[in-house]
Amino acid sequence: MITTHNLGFPRIGAQRELKFALEAYWKGQSSLDTLKQVGKDLRQQHWQLQSVLDLAPVGDFAFYDQVLDMSFTLGNLPVRVQDFHGDPLDNYFRVARGRSAESAEAHAQCCGGVAAGEMTKWFDTNYHYIVPEFTANTHFKLDASRLLAQLAEAKTLGVQTKPVIIGPVTYLAIGKAKDDSDRLALLPQLLNVYAELLETLAQQGVAWVQVDEPVLVTELTPEWQHAVNLAYHQLKSSRVKLLLATYFGPLADNQYLAANLPVAGLHIDAINARHEIVPLLAMLPAHKVLSLGVINGRNIWKTDLNATLDWLAPIAERLGDRLWLAPSCSLLHVPVDLDSELKLDSEIKSWLAFAKQKLEELQVLATALNHGREAVKVALAVNQVAIEARRLSKRVHNPAVKAVLQTLTPQLRQRQNVYTQRAAKQAALFNLPKFPTTTIGSFPQTAEIRQARRQFKAGELDQAGYQAVMKAEIARSVREQEALGLDVLVHGEAERNDMVEYFGEQLEGYAFSQFGWVQSYGSRCVKPPILFGDISRPQAMTVQWIEYAQSLTSKPMKGMLTGPVTMLNWSFVRDDQPREVSCYQLALAIRQEVLDLEKAGIRIIQIDEAALREGLPLRKSDWKKYLQWAVASFRITANGVADETQIHTHMCYSEFNDIIAEIADMDADVITIETSRSDMELLDAFDDFNYPNEIGPGVYDIHSPNIPEPERMVALMQKAAARIPAERLWVNPDCGLKTRQWAEVIPALRNMVSAAQQLRAQA
Ligand code: GLN
Ligand code: ZN
Repeated sequence: MITTHNLGFPRIGAQRELKFALEAYWKGQSSLDTLKQVGKDLRQQHWQLQSVLDLAPVGDFAFYDQVLDMSFTLGNLPVRVQDFHGDPLDNYFRVARGRSAESAEAHAQCCGGVAAGEMTKWFDTNYHYIVPEFTANTHFKLDASRLLAQLAEAKTLGVQTKPVIIGPVTYLAIGKAKDDSDRLALLPQLLNVYAELLETLAQQGVAWVQVDEPVLVTELTPEWQHAVNLAYHQLKSSRVKLLLATYFGPLADNQYLAANLPVAGLHIDAINARHEIVPLLAMLPAHKVLSLGVINGRNIWKTDLNATLDWLAPIAERLGDRLWLAPSCSLLHVPVDLDSELKLDSEIKSWLAFAKQKLEELQVLATALNHGREAVKVALAVNQVAIEARRLSKRVHNPAVKAVLQTLTPQLRQRQNVYTQRAAKQAALFNLPKFPTTTIGSFPQTAEIRQARRQFKAGELDQAGYQAVMKAEIARSVREQEALGLDVLVHGEAERNDMVEYFGEQLEGYAFSQFGWVQSYGSRCVKPPILFGDISRPQAMTVQWIEYAQSLTSKPMKGMLTGPVTMLNWSFVRDDQPREVSCYQLALAIRQEVLDLEKAGIRIIQIDEAALREGLPLRKSDWKKYLQWAVASFRITANGVADETQIHTHMCYSEFNDIIAEIADMDADVITIETSRSDMELLDAFDDFNYPNEIGPGVYDIHSPNIPEPERMVALMQKAAARIPAERLWVNPDCGLKTRQWAEVIPALRNMVSAAQQLRAQA
């Protein structure tokens, strides 16, 4: 019999219950006990939903982050919180957020606020974890209380469980040595604590433990490969069986290593590493369990169950009881329940599966293999109909779009002339001062804007009424910018709920869920749009707003668009064609918008690519290919304009060292980036590369409510000017201002303009 199991379940709740409970607690509106109860209820519900499986995960639930949970389990708390003596959960929030609650901070007097832990992306997902901190003196100490409590809870409910932990090598690899010491030197000590943890679990009667080592799908140096070997040889004497889980990609050169580790089972991502499975069968020792992740844990499409069974049948034959089935990775990365979607177009809905539906698919696969396809004949037939319908749907396939894609020529990516020639024409046209000032696009999303949008969606406000409110907000933004004396203005993005959703809603080929939330970090969730079909733009998306804004001022008004790569990377994308094909389609659609803006007399157009860097593949060897089509897509979008039209791009980061050549190759006339927190040091990459075009390095951090002083911004710009010739520098904030209040924005920008004036006076 085949065993079915799951690697992890989304914990935020189908209605985002955990988010609301956390935020209420942090605001001081509810008690810690209430929050703990919500956690308990969610765990129970989620085990209930997983009761169709042979083994459900325990320990995958986290109040904030599973990596931070692991740090607490290993007793690896940053020194700054070690003497806290309140509730451990409060201390946990202090590491995550710098404080446990907004008001009535527990132990505020005795223990005080602390710096929040650093956050970074979990492999190539949009989930962010709290980075474990190490020093040469880090001392680990087991605290299994959380795991044991959840294990006991599951036992009471009669759930067949498999505890889930992050493996020791991944834990070290994703952390940071604060003193630049060698993290691997901590491994022997860390392994002692892991051994103790496994023994503790064995004493509870646990049979299997899932140990996540996704680091095995990345490029490992010989030292790290050796660490993997060492770790599992040392843990081999444990009384529990280890299921070593890898996911998010192929094992590639780590395959032999992974196959031969002394563990009882190995889990492989059979979506992203399907081609490795058959060769692996030959490599795998005869006693070992092979768990195949056959349901995509990263996307929302129904699995083609019949095709999967065709592929699986001979493998099942060969492995017998040693075959386990699971989703490819934790379901943390998909929404909870498609059944909640009552407004989603029924045809599109019939092609989708969220976490709950994915577990049902798993169940069908296992039943078919265990008892024959007859036993699930109806489910298989229904699945077949949905798969076929999607494959043939006219909503997915638009021959006109495909035809245009066939005619992509290199000329489409080419500006008429090189930057120096363009820059001269643009300078003559715009006549901007030295150190020109601008902003990144959005102005505060005020209560009025949000209310109007709510009313419009609820049908309480008609189109004209809604437009009137938005126009009033745009007019306000323009007035304020003129009063501040900014040089290049923006309309402020009042009409945009979200920089991807706004465009997705107007493009053919996109659908939107109501409850398709996915945890991004802590209580924050995103609802990625669903890119399901060939992309086209039925009509202009931004022109009337930008035209209106331009009509209010004689200063240049910057048109504002989201770029194709960011649209792609922040969406659930098609699995029936390569990502780059979808990206080129987006590029062509947004290019039309660029050209329409230009036709409407808009001479400066910004194309945001906030997520370009995020899309970099896990393995460096795959970067080139990604960057090649990503940059080509941007160029297709941007480069149809005349020399006089100035193209800007914006990116919310500035670590460009390893991709600076490609950034330069995007050839935007102006790039604005986030630099204020790094003291302009990150501009070194541009300096070293002799980056040829204009740069607006952010001079103040928009995440903070603090009003930046002009002197500080002048000093930052001087540092910038030491690296980049002053005539190619712009002055702007780090990012958009939508999350700030007008009362913060106005004095901040006033100081920024004054800083620019001082710089001009000095020059
Ligand atoms: N133009 C967008 C804004 O100003 C850019 C946001 C972003 O880069 N994340 O909000
Ligand atoms: Zn930004």
